[in-house]
Amino acid sequence: RLICGSLAPHHELEEALAEFKKTQAALVFSSGYASALGTICALVGKEDIVILDKLGHASLIDAARLSGAKLRVFAHNDLDDLESILKWAASKPTEHTWLAGKRPRVLIVTESAFSMDGDCAPLRELVGLKEKYGAWLMIDEAHTTGICGTKGCGYAEECSVGDQIEIQMGTLGKALGASGGYICGSRVLIDYLINRARSFVFSTAPVPASAAAALAAFRFVQSTAGEERRDSLWQRVESAKSFCNPGERRGCSAILPILIGDENAALQAAQFFREQNIFIPAIRYPTVAKGQARLRLTLTASHTNDDLAQLRDVFLKLKLKLGNSDAPHEQARPT
Ligand SMILES: *Cc1c(COP(=O)(O)O)cnc(C)c1O
Repeated sequence: RLICGSLAPHHELEEALAEFKKTQAALVFSSGYASALGTICALVGKEDIVILDKLGHASLIDAARLSGAKLRVFAHNDLDDLESILKWAASKPTEHTWLAGKRPRVLIVTESAFSMDGDCAPLRELVGLKEKYGAWLMIDEAHTTGICGTKGCGYAEECSVGDQIEIQMGTLGKALGASGGYICGSRVLIDYLINRARSFVFSTAPVPASAAAALAAFRFVQSTAGEERRDSLWQRVESAKSFCNPGERRGCSAILPILIGDENAALQAAQFFREQNIFIPAIRYPTVAKGQARLRLTLTASHTNDDLAQLRDVFLKLKLKLGNSDAPHEQARPT
């Protein structure tokens, strides 16, 4: 796109995205993965520090590693742990003599909703911490764009912190049903990425058709029909939670993990559902930690009440089959 091939559908999509996310500007990449890689590597280098949530997506981990920055991981959603790393980072002098006296840049990277647990990051508190320590914050909204917040704007908007997060990332390939990834933020950030994000500069732009598809998806998401679809999605989620995650506070995603623990037991449980015409993938190591295998139930707006009733029946049968009165979800959750 820097040489030629920056076409009207790309610009229209970026303008719509910036308006949707209420940021000054937006940039579209060929995928969410490429967005993370290009952005983190453009913003930090080996003098800098990236602090990543333990359960961050592979694209964020790979990007942090490739950037050459020092990588520190904080326990999942653990603000005390994050703060202790921020304190360490603030006290750390840069090693390079020509940067003497300058503090390293510190970038906190996390997700709005986590893809394997379906839980949400404490965004307001994260914003408080990054302000306190002068760090930047990058949020990956892959699982919340289109389904949370006013008109599906996302979780940062739902928590009223959208304008305080430096880098908002997401994919066009999940709720939006197209493909590609995006970064939303200040005009300065986007201008910088246009010239420095290598996965943007040195890779073919999304095909115009997929940019146009994503634009149509954004329009749909913000329409009354989009609102109705979100309502029915959240109804499905609440109804599934009532039997497979009771007590779980309202989350921000349509992902409901059913913790099993043992890898083989998770595979057998998935097979059991499959035999009853329900597809729920088993997620095992290395996607999640050893011994924390689970079924990853994902609801969509197009599931029907009958689907939910059937799911409930099979879920109860599975509990009987597992032969214990404890529901699988009542086993210890990962910390
Ligand atoms: C799917 C996903 C991505 C990658 O997005 P793609 O567009 O598929 O490359 C990044 N982050 C998270 C949290 C994801 O779930």
